[in-house]
Amino acid sequence: MSSTTSESKRVAIVTGAAEGIGRGIALRLAKDGYDLGLFDLPRAEQKLTAVAEEIRTTYGARVSTVYGDVSKEEDVKRLVDTVVQELGSLYAMIANAGICINRPLHETTAEQSDKLLDINVKGTFYSFKYAAIQLIKQGKGGRLVGASSIAGKRGFAEHGMYCASKFAVRGIIQSAALDYGAHGITVNAYAPGACDTALLAGVDEYFSERKGQPKGSYMEVFSSGSALGRLAQPRDIANLASFFLSDDAGFVTGQTWLVDGGSVFD
Ligand code: NAD
Repeated sequence: MSSTTSESKRVAIVTGAAEGIGRGIALRLAKDGYDLGLFDLPRAEQKLTAVAEEIRTTYGARVSTVYGDVSKEEDVKRLVDTVVQELGSLYAMIANAGICINRPLHETTAEQSDKLLDINVKGTFYSFKYAAIQLIKQGKGGRLVGASSIAGKRGFAEHGMYCASKFAVRGIIQSAALDYGAHGITVNAYAPGACDTALLAGVDEYFSERKGQPKGSYMEVFSSGSALGRLAQPRDIANLASFFLSDDAGFVTGQTWLVDGGSVFD
């Protein structure tokens, strides 16, 4: 797959790119030939700088790093403006940044629920909104990719508001696909199963502590919960994100695809 056009390399933005799945996607897209806009929280500056440096030295891609919070509209607008100014255009937005908070509903505070919905849902909304404005202005099509989850396909115990946020991503994907099809913009999401990242370590910590078991106990439960019997690695998710951006995926839109080693079937 070539990401180059006759004029210049295509540009993709990845939010939450300092580690985990976002870092995996950024590295894969650089390998595919994209220039990259990388976004994360200010507290992740050291990690994001390291990802940018790895991409520049390994793949020779141009990288623009921007810091802020996906749940703040002005930060996301600034992200798109900065990347377009520094790298010249935009082809794809990967709205990857997200958090997980586990609790049964009766123990979930309004603040925890707001935080989940602000980052996972509004973050996707703002990322798609400002990318779509730019892509429509350019008039050459493009790609919007969101981060759903197996928890966006079915409920999981003590995941109530996280599931709500990931089901919401599917709703946004389907509606946005209809809104932007006429502009040649496809809109899809990856729906990972348990993936070996800091986010999953937090989920493990919650459930292990809850059941009075040592930290790490739930990693085994997560690993054995799929047909392939292992955790996803960020590169497994990055492979699908790479496909969504490719020309071969030009007729795929409005979809939320599981990439979970066979744990949830739809
Ligand atoms: P992670 O915690 O390892 O990394 C998330 C990155 O996003 C971090 O760099 C973090 O600093 C950044 N981030 C968090 N809040 C942000 C904000 N408000 N603004 C900007 N950046 C922010 O998480 P991950 O496991 O790589 O997850 C990435 C996405 O995939 C999330 O949307 C998550 O819900 C989804 N997902 C993960 C799993 C899994 O098992 N790891 C499974 C299904 C879906």
